[in-house]
Amino acid sequence: MSDCLFCKIINGDIPCDFIYQDDDLLAFKDINPQAPFHCLIIPKLHISSLSEITEDHDELMGKLTLAATRICREQGLNKNGYRLVINCGEDGGQTVPHIHMHILAGRTLQWPPG
Ligand code: 5GP
Ligand code: ZN
Repeated sequence: MSDCLFCKIINGDIPCDFIYQDDDLLAFKDINPQAPFHCLIIPKLHISSLSEITEDHDELMGKLTLAATRICREQGLNKNGYRLVINCGEDGGQTVPHIHMHILAGRTLQWPPG
């Protein structure tokens, strides 16, 4: 989608601090980290939010979750733990309308979130 920030990152039009990619997914560091380790994993397919996913996306969402856990393992985060977050919509705190999973780690995270 031409006016989507994350599609521009996927297309290479906007640079990112790259972590991982495959045919379906791209992972990169968040530009405004909220924890010592903060990365985003996005599908290369433009889906605007969690509320737009259907059964057609079950494999993709499974791959997204598996990629996140693999990145966490490779980054040595399993011992102390981490948090995976998908914000959805305005009340959920979503600011970029291309579905993305946050990985937050490296400090003790509070609960409940603000
Ligand atoms: P949301 O608030 O939608 O769940 O998360 C969007 C995230 O994208 C935020 O954490 C924000 O810091 C990050 N972000 C926004 N613009 C850019 C950018 O141009 N590059 C990178 N790497 N992250 C971005
Ligand atoms: Zn997009």
